Amino acid sequence: MEKTFLMVKPDGVQRQLIGEIVGRFERKGLQLIGAKLMTIPVSLAEQHYGEHKGKPFYDDLVSFITSGPVFAMVWQGENVVELTRKMMGKTNPKDAEPGTIRGDYSMFVSKNIIHGSDSPESANREVALFFNENELVEYDKLINSWIY
Ligand code: ADP
Ligand code: MG
Repeated sequence: MEKTFLMVKPDGVQRQLIGEIVGRFERKGLQLIGAKLMTIPVSLAEQHYGEHKGKPFYDDLVSFITSGPVFAMVWQGENVVELTRKMMGKTNPKDAEPGTIRGDYSMFVSKNIIHGSDSPESANREVALFFNENELVEYDKLINSWIY
């Protein structure tokens, strides 16, 4: 089953949006298989955002993401990467549709509430960066067969 790495950023934690965000993915029918509240060390932030090194916003991005606790999660389900990117909305909240997480809760690209992997390959990389194997659980959902 496809997995993705999602993270409520420090602005979302400060604004007490963890439950709201987790609830959206739960109600959609995706399966949470790992989660932790943590403060990201600078070295991990630099690895995580390595693709953006050299861009004008890189230093601010690393200092923001390490500025306070984040809520790191692993979710799974069919097409979970594309689906959760759709539910997050566009990177710049000014372009994000109402009904998406960024569209509903944020105003600024530098404070856009949530991170989500952008491909199955980056999801595998990011899950491995943030979680040990023994922090992920496998379990059956017993409710019915229409959700993961
Ligand atoms: P996404 O988070 O949607 O995958 P990117 O990977 O392109 O977006 O960028 C990583 C994060 O860097 C964004 O979520 C956003 O917080 C920040 N960012 C992206 N572009 C800018 C920008 N032009 N100015 C400030 N911050 C930016
Ligand atoms: Mg990205």
